[in-house]
Amino acid sequence: MPKKYNIPTKTSPPRFTPIGKSTILDWEGGCLRCFKCVKRQCIYDVYNERTFDVRQMTDTIDSLCKNCLRCVQSCPGQVITKVANAEYKRMGNSYWTPDIIRGQWFQAETGRIPVSGAGYGGPFSGPGFDDMWTDMSEIVRPTRDGIHGREYINTVVDLGRSFPCLRFDAAGHVVGDAPKKIEIPIPIILKDLPLGSLSESVFLAMAEAAQAMDTFMIAPVKEWKPYLEPYKTHLIPLLTEAEIDTHGELIRGVRIIEIQLSDVTEARFSRIRAAYPDVLIMVRVRLGERSGEEALALTRAGADILHLCADRDGNVESGNGTRFVKDVVRSVHKDLVEAGCRNEITLFASGGIAMAEHVAKGIIVGADAVAVDIPLLLALECRLCFRCEAGRSCPVEVENIHPEWGKNRILNLIAAWRNQLIEVLGAMGIREIRRLRGEVGRAMFFDDLERETFGKLFGKRTKRESVGN
Ligand code: SF4
Ligand code: SF4
Repeated sequence: MPKKYNIPTKTSPPRFTPIGKSTILDWEGGCLRCFKCVKRQCIYDVYNERTFDVRQMTDTIDSLCKNCLRCVQSCPGQVITKVANAEYKRMGNSYWTPDIIRGQWFQAETGRIPVSGAGYGGPFSGPGFDDMWTDMSEIVRPTRDGIHGREYINTVVDLGRSFPCLRFDAAGHVVGDAPKKIEIPIPIILKDLPLGSLSESVFLAMAEAAQAMDTFMIAPVKEWKPYLEPYKTHLIPLLTEAEIDTHGELIRGVRIIEIQLSDVTEARFSRIRAAYPDVLIMVRVRLGERSGEEALALTRAGADILHLCADRDGNVESGNGTRFVKDVVRSVHKDLVEAGCRNEITLFASGGIAMAEHVAKGIIVGADAVAVDIPLLLALECRLCFRCEAGRSCPVEVENIHPEWGKNRILNLIAAWRNQLIEVLGAMGIREIRRLRGEVGRAMFFDDLERETFGKLFGKRTKRESVGN
């Protein structure tokens, strides 16, 4: 039996006390001095383990507490209260919510899938990826062979072009060289970070993690320093068109390059391919109004991989207002299918990929794989305070991480994501991630349901009216 792919995990505690969701107010006044105080009955032993973090001038109780409220409810003097932590609420933005941030911290520390407890208390639909539901109809029997048991669920994806069809010469031989392909064991690559307090240790942590997972990391060529040389077979240099001519030696040492092409012609691709025949050419497409046409032109011109990029919150500006990355990727995929060339090219999607379920949803709408950025920063303890964007100091000193610690945190996060992906595939009855691509028939889209079902009866309701009703 072939060896099972496995991402090694190692518990990697945070360097700073994490910001807790709520804070405990514990008044001494009114205390009845009970013989058996409720604090001693905390099953997580939080009151004994709490310390005072002098570096951050904070009580560690808020990050240790599991919010079971037992002490609050049981105290006969009612002197213990829990209130929402204002600092927690300030993290991130409307897309990268504090709960998403906290979820990624947990996974990066433990390598485990977060379990939320008894039932789901949130709304059934929302903006972005939350208006898409996956078909989990096979969830009743996934343990037949165990999702993580004997039966393999394959998460390998192929990068590169495919023949549109096979052509044979008179002697029956296939015409032309087989296109070059690279396999990666997970449908995830590490993208250059759009913000962050970055340093050599951050880049090293990412490069080491990419190599350990046998996937790739995109590195802007200006960040390409000698310390990255040992990892170059797992790095994708991001170049402008002008930099292609000045970085020949670098390009010859890697397996994939990513280019930001302003004007794409078949002749241009042919020249690059002739100069670097062993290198796959990925093109970064900033998603917008004309994404479908651009993707088609690039596919016909000879690109091997297209990287469809939305902004960091998954938004795409188009003439009709803002669209979300999953909707734009879905329409690009559909355009390529209708033009009969979807199978010729590999599509990556990036922007707004914040959780494991977004990987599955991105693939269902038509991407082969995704490129992840901000979650990597969250793995390194980032609080998404955006201070670094204003040139201010980082509260968790991301730039000072130890590369080994950073690598382990990233491995933990992606291992937890991959396990969730396997759970989703198992629950959908799919044992091969390549089969998930474009399987929109295995998902439901809130807008489509509204239009097709209730639209006929009541006219189209807005998403806001419908959510939670
Ligand atoms: S709320 Fe629960 S976990 Fe938190 S301190 Fe009280 S008893 Fe412990
Ligand atoms: S914690 Fe704040 S300053 Fe540090 S990397 Fe994250 S967003 Fe930037």
